[in-house]
Amino acid sequence: MKFQSKIIAPVTLSKNVLDIEFIKRISVSLDCSGCKRSRRTVVLFEEQNESFCTPTNHKYPGRINKLSVSERKKYRVLSDKSVVTATYKIVYEFDKFTDKKYPDRTINENPTWARVSFSILCKCGVKSEHSTQNNISRPWTAVCECGNELYYELEEIPKFTAG
Ligand SMILES: [Zn+2]
Ligand SMILES: [Zn+2]
Repeated sequence: MKFQSKIIAPVTLSKNVLDIEFIKRISVSLDCSGCKRSRRTVVLFEEQNESFCTPTNHKYPGRINKLSVSERKKYRVLSDKSVVTATYKIVYEFDKFTDKKYPDRTINENPTWARVSFSILCKCGVKSEHSTQNNISRPWTAVCECGNELYYELEEIPKFTAG
């Protein structure tokens, strides 16, 4: 069966950031009915034939259907920070199965973990690539090689919604 999920990543940018560009590649934790194993890290692209399941790297029947990026919005009144939100809409095939190694695990179609990647252009002119995922320690501040602060994380991201 075909399923859809949205993976939502709001990134809080410093005023030093001239531009942020989200990369059309996302790593997602999914129960994979291809290799019949739970909690695989699956890497999805816009082109389905590039998507794969790790660690065996078998082709994965899923893709990024749409990546939308919001306008840059003020973080809070009187704040010099701003927030840009990326929403990755993914579609993938899933059918119930039993994990041979962990037969007691509940198998379902919902992602529980993801990693998103983006490049940031600092006002110093340096562009650097970054990624964030659910299980890092926060608060977290990313800094450019010039010393400027680039973005901040207080809360766990990304977030997940079905459909
Ligand atoms: Zn798999
Ligand atoms: Zn810089």
